Amino acid sequence: MDSRYSRQLLFKKIGAAGQKRLGDATIAIIGCGALGSAIAETLVRAGVGTIHIADRDYVELSNIQRQQLFTERDAEEMLPKVVAAEKRLKSINSSVVLHTYLQNVDHLLIEYLAARVDVIMDATDNFETRLLINDAAYKHNIPWIYGGCVGSSGVIFPFRPKQTACFRCLLPVLPTVNETCDTVGIISPAVQITAATQCAEALKLLTGNDKAIRYKVHHFDCWNNTFLDIGISRLKKEKCETCGEHATFPSLDRDQQSQYAVLCGRDAVQVLPSPGRKVTLNDAEKLTKNLKAFMRRTPYFVEFQREQYRMLLFEDGRLLIHGIKDLNLGRRLYTEIFG
Ligand SMILES: [Zn+2]
Repeated sequence: MDSRYSRQLLFKKIGAAGQKRLGDATIAIIGCGALGSAIAETLVRAGVGTIHIADRDYVELSNIQRQQLFTERDAEEMLPKVVAAEKRLKSINSSVVLHTYLQNVDHLLIEYLAARVDVIMDATDNFETRLLINDAAYKHNIPWIYGGCVGSSGVIFPFRPKQTACFRCLLPVLPTVNETCDTVGIISPAVQITAATQCAEALKLLTGNDKAIRYKVHHFDCWNNTFLDIGISRLKKEKCETCGEHATFPSLDRDQQSQYAVLCGRDAVQVLPSPGRKVTLNDAEKLTKNLKAFMRRTPYFVEFQREQYRMLLFEDGRLLIHGIKDLNLGRRLYTEIFG
């Protein structure tokens, strides 16, 4: 065994057997913002063998305060987060196999991932995607580790099919549902504690230390110096659509997928193309040239200005519109430009 993992090997609960299990493990990290950066770096350093990372966004200067994988250069180049992350993670541990997905996480991608990973790490910023993760994880019988943080607080819970209530059961009682980092901001320690706690649970899971797992909803506030462990076994709903006996996994139904999203921390709206509609970067370049305004093309997107709005069209046909929060306006602008 090489010296890279010597301190982790000395930790008896992991040891050589646990390290081998980590090397054989495959995980998915959904989202590569603040939590995703911290989780990816920790688990890449720990020697998890294969990691899938999905994110739809690019690096901005306002990310760097808490998104530890990214640099000023990444922001200047507007690199997609998964591209910048891959570069950095490879330089930390070149033996880890990385797969990245620059796209919106939809029912197809989440099921693809759930079918081939040992655990899904939640690093998203919205409840819609978490419901998607929850349905896919319970359908494919794999654990997923919830993490959410805002301000100086965070919430962590390892969801486990056949053992714990699911996210859908807990939804009505989870704290910090109505606050986002858009409205109350966030400090980096809250991110680090949340991600570190998620990673501790992942290490227990992946090394077979099941008895050490904390099956309580853990809530902390590192400014007000409080923490809370909430037992949730009684919250499991018999007729739950995800973890009940006759589960239907409604979030995996294509028709349930929203075509729009307001992006957390962005002051931006994302519009997806209608099913079957394909807008390519070439189309976008041609169409936006006619606008006779600012336009630039990178390998990943076409950025352009229309009226007062700055927009980016990505390779998968997604349009990111900056400076608005109104979903209907987003849809109208998309149709006006791309039909
Ligand atoms: Zn449930």
